[in-house]
Amino acid sequence: ITSQSYVFFIIGASGDLAKRKIYPTLWWLYRDGVLPKNISFIGYSRSQLTIEQIFENSHKYMKIQEDEHDIYEKFLKLNSYISGSYDKSEDFENLNSKANKISHQVNAHRLFYLALPPNVYESVSELISKHCRAASPGWLRLIIEKPFGKDLESSNKFSQHLNKLYTEEEIYRIDHYLGKEMVQNILVLRFSNRIFSRVWNRDSIAGVQIIFKEKIGTHRHGSYFDEVGIIRDVIQNHLMQILSILAMEKPRSTTGEDIRDEKVKVLRCIAPIKLENVIVGQYIGDKKSTDSERQLGYLDDKNVPKDSTTPTYAQIIVFIKNERWDGVPFILRAGKALNERKAEIRIQFRDVPGRMFDEELSENNVEGTLARDELVIRIQPDEAIYLKINTKRPGEMNFSIEETELDLTYNERYQGVKLPNAYERLILDVFMGSKINFVRSDELQEAWRIIDPILAEIEKKKLQIIPYKFGAIGIREAFDAAVKQGFIYTRTYVWEDD
Ligand code: NAP
Ligand code: NAP
Repeated sequence: ITSQSYVFFIIGASGDLAKRKIYPTLWWLYRDGVLPKNISFIGYSRSQLTIEQIFENSHKYMKIQEDEHDIYEKFLKLNSYISGSYDKSEDFENLNSKANKISHQVNAHRLFYLALPPNVYESVSELISKHCRAASPGWLRLIIEKPFGKDLESSNKFSQHLNKLYTEEEIYRIDHYLGKEMVQNILVLRFSNRIFSRVWNRDSIAGVQIIFKEKIGTHRHGSYFDEVGIIRDVIQNHLMQILSILAMEKPRSTTGEDIRDEKVKVLRCIAPIKLENVIVGQYIGDKKSTDSERQLGYLDDKNVPKDSTTPTYAQIIVFIKNERWDGVPFILRAGKALNERKAEIRIQFRDVPGRMFDEELSENNVEGTLARDELVIRIQPDEAIYLKINTKRPGEMNFSIEETELDLTYNERYQGVKLPNAYERLILDVFMGSKINFVRSDELQEAWRIIDPILAEIEKKKLQIIPYKFGAIGIREAFDAAVKQGFIYTRTYVWEDD
């Protein structure tokens, strides 16, 4: 008896995603011995290339160690490349027969990674379904990358197209944030700790911020970014996903369907966003900077129309109209060309009622109030969970209070532990058939339903675009809006204009 074979197809093998992420990830998974034994990999795109050329392009991302050359050679031998179109049946018939030949099985399980621009998703997904299905009992799994549409309508249209060709079971929509260690940890933190589960609601939580910041601007990607903007690029997908996991009710189990049912349910409770709760901005060059890149603003890119209203920064405050969260602001904030690169969640707890300690805390603090407790989950870089609390200033004779942290910084506490990257986890999940970390079509539809009206307003140029300087902390108006919703900035959070 021969054991079950697998074929992994990289469609768009000549592209950037394949080069930087998919090939290296497959190599690491293979090297670590976690992939099925009988596996082959087939790259496919229009370019006339050899598999050696593909590997050469990817080489610097593979990070091959001295002692790994033999196993790398073995991996290379399992790979092949076929060139063909994205719209001709005969090319996909050809791909199918090559796959049968390479795997020596007509019923090998097949995984297709679409690493392609969205304009060819429709034809490619159709041709794969028509011509490249394995004979029973071999299954097919289709992995697709964002963007899943550019608005509610186009997203629904694409979902309907896929639904005609594939079962929901077969579709794996990647949101690589779901593969991040700290995003996966939210479930454990919330549901395995009594100390958090009891306070995870409107009675104790004053506000939640989900923050994404990048230091780099959009240069050289201006023409791509201008079609997309920060809301589609980051908020509609990554931050909405984080929000749903943070806010959902406790799932019945850890199966993909139970978790995704709860995520959809909470997204359905999100009320339409009021325009006054949206702040958008665009970066301008910092003329004083010595870095030539930072001197240029978003509109200085010749690939960007001079009157572009595409936001490079956005803050959206949403409210979840259910018993757990009514009235609690969830502040989603994302921006490019800022002072630092990070993604984190900040959960701010309510003030302690009743006043017992008279002492004012520091010159920056609101008079007579204690700093609020805050739980920070740092997703990247440098994963950490820290809980900001008040403590008695050590050694003082009176009740002098200071803010401190209960600190679980991963590279201190878990020294030497290697965290697999998001793509490693997610691709392995697809092999295992685990759907926890992939986006279901109804989740996607809800996320678009929430975001769509804002995009329409921006398109109609109804929202004022606030300029901010390359390298700024953020936009003042956005912080002010958070304050208006009851978020309190004390002590360490003092706004400084640069
Ligand atoms: P890409 O390099 O622009 O395109 C992949 C391949 O598709 C190209 O090598 C090219 O191959 C073919 N192609 C390019 N433009 C085409 C066109 N107009 N019509 C037909 N074929 C075309 O794209 P990518 O950066 O790898 O991204 C692939 C997908 O992943 C996209 O949907 C992207 O949004 C998403 N994504 C990418 C990243 C990333 O880091 N790059 C991150 C997240 C999501 P041939 O000419 O050889 O056929
Ligand atoms: P923090 O610097 O007190 O606060 C950071 C937050 O304040 C961010 O949300 C930031 O907004 C906002 N902020 C900072 N400067 C601002 C300004 N000038 N104007 C307006 N808003 C501003 O740092 P923290 O994260 O709360 O940390 C408190 C303590 O924990 C620090 O001593 C830190 O060293 C320690 N700690 C840090 C880590 C870690 O980072 N891995 C781990 C353990 C302990 P944006 O988010 O929009 O930038």
